[in-house]
Amino acid sequence: MEAPTVWLFVWQFAAFMLIDDVYFYFFHRYNHENKWLYKKIHRIHHKAFNPIPLEYLYVHPLEWMGGTVGIAATAALIGFTMGEINCWPFWTFALVRNLHELEIHSGLKSIFSQYIPYNGTTEHHDLHHAKLRGNYASTFSFWDKLFKTDLHMVDGKCRTKAQLDEMETQEKAAA
Ligand SMILES: [Zn+2]
Ligand SMILES: [Zn+2]
Repeated sequence: MEAPTVWLFVWQFAAFMLIDDVYFYFFHRYNHENKWLYKKIHRIHHKAFNPIPLEYLYVHPLEWMGGTVGIAATAALIGFTMGEINCWPFWTFALVRNLHELEIHSGLKSIFSQYIPYNGTTEHHDLHHAKLRGNYASTFSFWDKLFKTDLHMVDGKCRTKAQLDEMETQEKAAA
């Protein structure tokens, strides 16, 4: 396969990163919100309260398979709308995605990547493992902000933005 142009590399890489990540967000969130799925499938990954890198792979086989749907869907979308997928952006995406998963399960502070805006850091995912709700995003933390599932410490308790909004509505109704 011939080398891609810079433009082709950038947009195919960006498409894989963004579409796969928004799919992962909803897939992961549903694995928590559906009690049956959580108990039977996703709970295995959450046996790790302080994850080590390899625990990124410590998931139920069905969760692993379900997680690849985002990649297949992105490939299909690019293939059907824009033509063939170049292997360079695809393998770069696969490398970045896997390294990022290893990082956020490493238990190490995100020293460099904390400066990349909206990058999902180790601290972001550690909080998810500690609280078992909220902070569902992986690569880009802005999905949690957008869909109000980012965790905030309020009065010593961890709450999602949606819960804070609900508390505020209740306080206003009671006033
Ligand atoms: Zn989870
Ligand atoms: Zn995890």
